[in-house]
Amino acid sequence: MAFRCSKALPHPVETLVSEPWTIAVKPFQVSPQTYYVSGQKWVGAYLIDTGDGLILIDTAIPESDYLLVDSIYKLGYKPTDIKKILISHAHFDHMGAAMAMKQLTGAPLYISKEDAAFIEACEEETYIPDSGSHVQHIDKFDYFYDDDTRIELGNISIRTMLTPGHTIGCTSFFWEEKNPVTGDVYTVAMHGGVGANTMNDEYYSTSKYLTPDLRDRFFADADKVAGIHVDIALPSHPNQIEIMDRAGTYTHESQPYLDETVWADFVRERVRQVKVLM
Ligand SMILES: [Zn+2]
Repeated sequence: MAFRCSKALPHPVETLVSEPWTIAVKPFQVSPQTYYVSGQKWVGAYLIDTGDGLILIDTAIPESDYLLVDSIYKLGYKPTDIKKILISHAHFDHMGAAMAMKQLTGAPLYISKEDAAFIEACEEETYIPDSGSHVQHIDKFDYFYDDDTRIELGNISIRTMLTPGHTIGCTSFFWEEKNPVTGDVYTVAMHGGVGANTMNDEYYSTSKYLTPDLRDRFFADADKVAGIHVDIALPSHPNQIEIMDRAGTYTHESQPYLDETVWADFVRERVRQVKVLM
């Protein structure tokens, strides 16, 4: 199915606190080894079954952490099966529950060097925009990626790519999975962050850390990023690439998320949106 996106949810933190059932979602499979597990429709978290333990990408916020944990159990796993927790970028909506998940799983936390420095320099800025979330301070990250770091577990090898713009150390992830029925190998990817909310002049006028040259880098890198072959494109926020419409329909035979055109269309659409806001 071709690339589609939708509007961002209004007041998502408030909704998760007061009416979580309105945006709750059961875990669902998106590729041979990967599941959407945040338990809510605002911000994504993905669980990869490597055959030798799980990798969790992003954690969402503390207010929906029970939904994430419930998703893990619903899939037949337990939190201690998680061996690595990767954070896409230093914003509260993706890493707000990271400390809770680290404590619950015992797994090490990963983030880019650049975003670790961003947190160190001005943690308060990682809570915007409009967090009412009770974010836990992260005492310590355990590992730091560069551009093109390999993260290996079981039969999965994730390649990181530094994709600055939305934050200075925003990191995208690429890995391969084999369809056990057909034998086909797919490149699966999650872009680390594309929100225009931190790539506009108003934001730069108040930011103590992010500067307009990051937006220039986002534009400059766009062709290179869009040119990567990706068979299954996953969004960090599900409104950015429509995936909810096929939740629960996955089979190895049907591959509802397999479409090699989605990734490039998504990257180009986000560049267009940032330019509109300039
Ligand atoms: Zn963000």
